[in-house]
Amino acid sequence: MSGVEESLAELRQAFKSGQTRSVSWRKSQLRAIIDLVQDNEENIFRALYQDLGKHPVECYRDEGRLPLLFFPTSGEVMPEPLGVVLIFASWNFPLTLALDPLIGAISAGNTAVLKPSELTPACSSFLADTIPRYLDCRTIKVISGGADVGGRLLQQKWDKIFFTGSPRGGRIVMSAAAKHLTPVTLELGGKCPAILDTLSSPSDITIAVKRIVGGKWGPCGGQACIGIDYLLVERKFASTLIDLLKLTIKKFYGEEPQNSKNMCKIINKAHFERLRNLLEDPAVAASIVHGGSLHEKELFIEPSILLDPPLDAEIMTEEIFGPVLPIITLSNIQESIEFINSRPKPLAIYAFTKKDSFKRQIVSETSSGSVTFNDTMVQFLCDDLPFGGVGQSGFGRFHGKYSFDAFSHEKAVMTRGFFPEIEPRYPPWNGFKLRF
Ligand code: NAD
Repeated sequence: MSGVEESLAELRQAFKSGQTRSVSWRKSQLRAIIDLVQDNEENIFRALYQDLGKHPVECYRDEGRLPLLFFPTSGEVMPEPLGVVLIFASWNFPLTLALDPLIGAISAGNTAVLKPSELTPACSSFLADTIPRYLDCRTIKVISGGADVGGRLLQQKWDKIFFTGSPRGGRIVMSAAAKHLTPVTLELGGKCPAILDTLSSPSDITIAVKRIVGGKWGPCGGQACIGIDYLLVERKFASTLIDLLKLTIKKFYGEEPQNSKNMCKIINKAHFERLRNLLEDPAVAASIVHGGSLHEKELFIEPSILLDPPLDAEIMTEEIFGPVLPIITLSNIQESIEFINSRPKPLAIYAFTKKDSFKRQIVSETSSGSVTFNDTMVQFLCDDLPFGGVGQSGFGRFHGKYSFDAFSHEKAVMTRGFFPEIEPRYPPWNGFKLRF
């Protein structure tokens, strides 16, 4: 076992070093496979003969996209629907996250069950009432309910499960799917960082701050999977930044954000209490530099900013999913890459910078579902780009054509003519003299 662990540690270290990303490394290793086969042809024949009784002629593989040996041949990729699919939606965008995957499932030719979230009963009722009236209810069904209904659905055999929700829910879905080898797409969450590099132009700074405030407190009051979770900035810029954030928050939401009607409330009491607990950690409370007031009756939490909360506090280890923005200061913005890489892979990374070299570094040296430069959240609206996570933020992708692909199987179809026939492909291969 120790050999396995040591090997794995070595592989992880080698991957982390970035060595396998270079084209020259890839080419050299692929060439090495060719050399391995060519230098050892006789040994390969012998091993296959010993294990399988395989004749050397059978060991050859004709190369090419459509092998010449099989001329005339045509090949095509035919998408086919997967069958009966199950879609779980989460509550924070209860209509979009139900209809977007449903559009993919329908366009690919599947029948579908949609399970909306129980935390948004008005939206779930809307879907349950309207979908059967507008769509073919023999092929598309809405089954409403909570975790109990979700659990019952997961006991069934599906041809695909598309899940939007928490990593905890994702694990439940994946283990249920494993029983039937059902493919899954998991659209999960995580902590999405935003990097704010030094910007010299005052108007760039103003725009960046507006987009940060818009991306943090705008969509669903911070309860968004691709919302900014925390902000990385150089220490020397922190106090100016906090002043600008405060001004912009005031401009967007007024003196009393709880009365502004421009920001969402917290979805329910349980999530309100979860956020209260995060904020009531004494070390976290001490880091509040703006906001922090909680309006329990209205389930509203004021836009809040923290400056350098402890990195081991829950607010910095768990997805916040609420209107609280921790600012983490660094002595050099380059450190943001190491900071991000030392945490689970996020669904999105945002970076405000004008430096092309830094942009390239962020793209090539970090891993995330998406990277957006100089704005926030807008990648969700671009159907030409795949939307999905990596690592702990999920896997699989959707939006536009990618939604169609998520619900299709790409079947390889090859068609041959009857002539010419190349006889040497068939035994007996008496002309080939065995040397073992
Ligand atoms: P959740 O996991 O609690 O619920 C998601 C769905 O799973 C709901 O329909 C729910 O009823 C069902 N469910 C929950 N527990 C279940 C169980 N034990 N058995 C069967 N079904 C169960 O997630 P949520 O609170 O609705 O959503 C918040 C999470 O979703 C956040 O982590 C957020 O980041 C993530 N999210 C991701 C995306 C994305 O596109 N990647 C979008 C929105 C939200």
